[in-house]
This record gives sequence, structure tokens and C-alpha cells, in this order.
Amino acid sequence: TDYLKRIERAEPTLNSFISVTAEQALASADAADKTRAQGGAGYLTGVPLALKDIFCTQGVKTSCGSKMLDNFIAPYSATVVEKLDAAGSVSLGKTNMDEFAMGSSNESSFYGAVKNPWDLSAVPGGSSGGSAAAVAAGLAPGSLGTDTGGSIRQPAAFCGITGLKPTYGRVSRYGIIAYASSLDQAGPMARTAEDCAHLMTAIAGHDARDSTSVTRTVPDYAAQLDAPLAGLKIGLPQEYFGDGLDPAVATAVRGAVKVYETLGATVRDVSLPHTRYATSAYYVIAPAEASSNLSRFDGVRFGHRCDNPEDLLDLYLRSRAEGFGEEVKRRILIGTHTLSEGFFDAYYTKAQQVRRLIRQDFLDAFDDVDVLMGPTSPTPAFDLGAQKDPVSMYLQDIYTIAVNLAGIPGISVPAGLVNGRPVGLQILGTHFAEAQLLNVAHQFQ
Ligand code: GLN
Repeated sequence: TDYLKRIERAEPTLNSFISVTAEQALASADAADKTRAQGGAGYLTGVPLALKDIFCTQGVKTSCGSKMLDNFIAPYSATVVEKLDAAGSVSLGKTNMDEFAMGSSNESSFYGAVKNPWDLSAVPGGSSGGSAAAVAAGLAPGSLGTDTGGSIRQPAAFCGITGLKPTYGRVSRYGIIAYASSLDQAGPMARTAEDCAHLMTAIAGHDARDSTSVTRTVPDYAAQLDAPLAGLKIGLPQEYFGDGLDPAVATAVRGAVKVYETLGATVRDVSLPHTRYATSAYYVIAPAEASSNLSRFDGVRFGHRCDNPEDLLDLYLRSRAEGFGEEVKRRILIGTHTLSEGFFDAYYTKAQQVRRLIRQDFLDAFDDVDVLMGPTSPTPAFDLGAQKDPVSMYLQDIYTIAVNLAGIPGISVPAGLVNGRPVGLQILGTHFAEAQLLNVAHQFQ
């Protein structure tokens, strides 16, 4: 009830939730109390959490931030939601997000922008902006987000919390509304790496219902948090400290790296030479996959349906024209274009080749160093309404999207304030290095 009261007080200002499921939350909190009284507490018994509205939750509206799904009550729950339920956690509700997870500021939500709790004139980041703002404002001790090109790490950085994007395949995507299936991963957002570790232990693991999920055993992510860092080899990718990086952010990040040196780590410069192609490759691949994934919203089986269609084509056209917002339409257009005959090889195939080179850059770097460190975002949170054209918004993702193209894990940890707005330190590791990233992040905190 404490959290529900806080939500009630803060929400008119922040807008971080799309649905608050107070009744269900109180019922599962009661159930958790009973379990506890009987000595049967599970891993997260009674822990309140907020879920991005991209996770299907049985019997609860799951909108994905879109008018298209404003009337959609999910008939089943995502695997990660089932896992959290099984661990005993209490869902407080569904958090606001950019429409279909497309955005870096949470301004493309059908339900309106979310405000950054640190500064109400700033964006919370996106697309998991509601999940980040809710945790930062103390409306939930932890939340789940998804990250296709930075949507966990960048809002975590903008809101001064910790957010982990796991290795592709580590967490099941079943029941998560798909944006770009080869890039999407769900992950934890919380104040500390320690809290993220507990959430990660609860949600990771193989799922027969997601063919891309891996069978590798899930470690106890909290077990390694206190391992000493003496001898840790840190690489600083030069491409992440170049033009376009706010000098105050660079100072904050370099300050954080110094802290690691005092803990016994060694630091050296490394190069990820194909970094400059990452944004272009991502904005070909992600819209291509999105245009295919979003073709299922046709007004027939679920989601928005236009009034009085004249015929089937009219039903498709008007349902989609009315249901999707501007950014989603832009991505569908880009994706359909790059996949079309005559353009496929020049765009899509080329982008996949670039993707392979980007992945190889990281693997080569991890031959020499254990982790990479750099900024999560080139600037602290920008003002609401400040990014007017789509390309300048896309460039916000410059340090986060290569990670998704490579499939490796990344974590953003709070690294101080610039003009009163939080800045994130991004730490990257090789595939399945989540435990190490959490260990490194925890030592800083
Ligand atoms: N900002 C990026 C995009 O709009 C990333 C979004 C995400 O990770 N879901 O595609």
C-alpha cells in the first residue's frame, strides 16, 4: 500500500504508468504475506515491481504505448511475467513507453510523455522511460524494461538508476510484443546493481517457447557481486569519446573510470573501428524487422478496428492509419522500403554485413580487455520537445545500439550529475558476462 499511495501522489505529474493494477497488487501482496507466514517465501516474495507495458500480462491491458492496442487485454502472460509471479513478486502495474518501443524520449507514447523525476522539464529517456522514472521516483523498487537499441540503458542513465541489457537469448522473449526480434531483450531496472542481479536471476533462463533462448545454466547473479576487481582490464573505446560527446559527460565518465583504477583495475584505449556505421545499420535492420512484426495489426483479430469499413482493404488501411502514431508509421515505411525488391541487397543485406563487422570489433576488443567502459548517452537528459527531427533523435542511440547488433550485454550505472541531471556510465562485456558486469557495477556503487 505504501507504493500504491506514492503512485497515487506522483502520477498526475510524472505519467510513468499506463495502468495501475491496485486491486490485483493488494491481492497478491496478501497472498505473499500468507506465504511468508507459512515460511514458504520464494525468491522475490512480496517485492513490488512495475512492468513495461510491452509485456503481456494475462487479464490486464497491454497497450505497448499505442492506440492500436488501447483495447487489448492480454490472454496470456509473457514468460518473464510468469517467472516473476512464480518468484512471488507483486506487480503494481504497467509502465509508460514509446509507442511499440520506438523512441529515445518516451514522447511517442499514445498516453503522453513521461517526465523525468530529477527535472520535470526533461525527458526520462526511452523507450522504457516509464519503468526508469517509476524507479527513480521511488514508485517501485524495481522494474522490467526491454532494450532493442538502448531502451533499458539510456532511460536508466537519464533517470539516475541502474539498468542491464542481457545477452541476446539469455531472457525469453515469449509474450513480449516484438519490435525487432533479432535485437530485443528484456532486462531489469533498479536503483542498484545488486537489485538488478536478483531480478536477473529470477527472469533469465531457457524457454522452449522462444527458439532463440539459450539452454546455458543460469548463475546466481548476486553471488559474485563482492568479487574483488584487482587486475580487471578495462578498455575505453576511442570512438565513444569523440565528437558529439558533451565534455561534462566525458568528465563524469572518466572520473568513474578513475575509481576503478583505485580498485586495482588497469585501463587502456581500444578501438571499435566500425562504430560509425552502427546507427545506419541499426536504422535499416530494426525498421525492417518492425515492418514485418507490425503487419499482424490489421484490425481483424485484435487491436484497433476502424468504424464501418467498406471492404477488407478499407478495414486494413483505416485501422492501421488510425491505430499507429507518426513514428511507428515512419519505421514501417522505412522497413518496407529497405526490404522491397530492388533495394533489399543495397540496404538490408549490406546492413547485415556491417552488423557482422561490428560484432567482430567487440570480440576482438574482448581478446585484450575484460570489459569496455564509456558513456551511455552523449548528453544528460534533454528537454521535453527538444529533439524535433527524427534523425537527431536516432543519433541519441549512438553508444547503445552497436551492443544490440553484436548481441552482447551492457549495463548503465549512475555516474554523477551534470547540471542537476544524471549521467550514466556504460559497462560492456562479452556474451553471457552479465555476472561480471553486475560485479563491476556493484563495486562502483
Ligand atoms: N531508440 C531506439 C529506437 O527507437 C531504441 C529503442 C529500443 O531500444 N526499444 O529504435
